Amino acid sequence: MTQAIATASDRSISTQPTLAYQVAMPRPQTHLFEIELVIQGWQSTVLDLKFPVWTPGSYLVREYERHLQDFTAIGPNNQQLIWRKLAKNHWQVAIGHLETVTIRYRLFANELTVRTNHLDRSHAYFNGAATFLYPVGGLSLPAQVTIVLPDPAWQVATALPQLSAQDLQQTFHAQNFDELVDSPFEVGTHQSYSFEVLGKPHELVVWGTGNFKAHELIPDIERIIQTEANLFEGLPYDRYLFILHLTGQGYGGLEHKNSCSLIFGRHSFSHSEKRHQFMQLVAHEFFHLWNVKRIRPKELETFDYDGENYTPSLWFCEGTTSYYDLQIPYRSGIYKRPEFLNQLGKEITRYLNTPGRLVQPLAESSFDAWIKLYRAEAHSANHQISYYLKGEMLSLMLDLKIRAKFKNARSLDDVLRRLWQDFGKSETGFTAQQLESMIADVADENLSDFFQRYLHTTEELPLQDYLAPFGLEIKALCDRQLPYVGLRLATEHGREIVKFTEADSPAYDAGIDPGDEILAIDHLRLSAGQWADRLASYQPGDEISIAYFHQDELRSSRITLADPKPNRYDVVIVKNPTPMQDQLLSGWLSAS
Ligand SMILES: [Zn+2]
Repeated sequence: MTQAIATASDRSISTQPTLAYQVAMPRPQTHLFEIELVIQGWQSTVLDLKFPVWTPGSYLVREYERHLQDFTAIGPNNQQLIWRKLAKNHWQVAIGHLETVTIRYRLFANELTVRTNHLDRSHAYFNGAATFLYPVGGLSLPAQVTIVLPDPAWQVATALPQLSAQDLQQTFHAQNFDELVDSPFEVGTHQSYSFEVLGKPHELVVWGTGNFKAHELIPDIERIIQTEANLFEGLPYDRYLFILHLTGQGYGGLEHKNSCSLIFGRHSFSHSEKRHQFMQLVAHEFFHLWNVKRIRPKELETFDYDGENYTPSLWFCEGTTSYYDLQIPYRSGIYKRPEFLNQLGKEITRYLNTPGRLVQPLAESSFDAWIKLYRAEAHSANHQISYYLKGEMLSLMLDLKIRAKFKNARSLDDVLRRLWQDFGKSETGFTAQQLESMIADVADENLSDFFQRYLHTTEELPLQDYLAPFGLEIKALCDRQLPYVGLRLATEHGREIVKFTEADSPAYDAGIDPGDEILAIDHLRLSAGQWADRLASYQPGDEISIAYFHQDELRSSRITLADPKPNRYDVVIVKNPTPMQDQLLSGWLSAS
């Protein structure tokens, strides 16, 4: 290593700076990573370093920098360099004319989700955005990452290509900071399974135990890969990695270009509906390798790691992907038509049971993801609608609209293929206008009124009108004809706690809030699990008194019970479908 005292002019003719990160975890039980960044040839006397505040795919400022401690900057002779903090995630180091600068810090990692870091005696899982400082102005620089293993039995899984491996060190290469951020690492004694689809290598690594049976599930994963490859006409990567964490309760996924991270319940795999849910999760995150990772909105074409990246188009990135996560396992033969329609009914039920759909327009839900969807609280369903859910409903309507018009000769598949050709392959961001034009083009009609109503206002979606040509109808059902109060309760430690109060319901008007504890109806104690049975003895129009704790205050409210409301919506085939309805339905839900 040379300690060249170069002048500015010397540097302007030298090669570009190099970045070498090292991630060590000598005492994993402390949850502390030891990170080192060696920068050579930085062409300025100050070095500005920033920590990303969010990670692509998860639209919330998470303040990853809050886990950083013990920051130091040293020169080639181990001399301490002077630095100062300019903002929560911004360090500035005076480097003078030093050729080589080493930055060290430690990072606390004890949050096990797909978009955070977790280190303990059993493994290390980390995301680039939550781990690496970057030099301001250096996002396009290639980087090397060396993992220093704490134990020779530990292995490394990542989508990044490996440069070298010796003893306890393995080194990988990222073309730029985006690729580094887009390539999570799983390090430990995980199970690893390799398989090929369309001649391309795939790997599944599994951390945690449970009733996951790889030999049963991998064939289904292969089918999903094959079905999506058919849709997009090929696989745009050299190698793909699935990282699966099995936990007691968790659920979630995060997409990347050449990998994805999944969390799922360790004991869920013997239950067919949960196994199907797992396959939907796989189909969803895998679909994203096209839709959102490569086909992405203009506003996400170049990531700004320093703050919110606002876009109105997440309804398409997430909603359309959610629509396809229902379709793909069906098309892959993992479940049959009745299960597909059953699942669709559940999604429609969730949608119609969310009062916020009549408050927040879809495009606004996308734009405000940063302050709303990812910051949901007990009242949220009254004020907001998820762009996943309403985006899925809109995608269903668009698919059915195109299919009905062209008798299944065209569909939303064509929209995706054309977006892939025109925007995805070159990773050119699409504007909201370009997306709408593309869909209108495939539909061969002017859709500006459609998008105005359903993206920008809260007008109710006419789902029924779009299902009718396919011989399907939405059936509103009441599980029990109970008078309506507007409360959803859960039993916690033998107590009946309000989980949700529906806007404009009798309970809402009385001021009963989530968190309140219901004690008695008409002066008689409400025992655990009795709520429905007690309501069943009343009629709509009856007035009841409810005693409850609100905060710590004992309250009583008189409530007039309303007429029963549907709590479930099933999608069913009409009694006597016409030949045209039959034909359209078979074209949409053909056994492929
Ligand atoms: Zn998603």
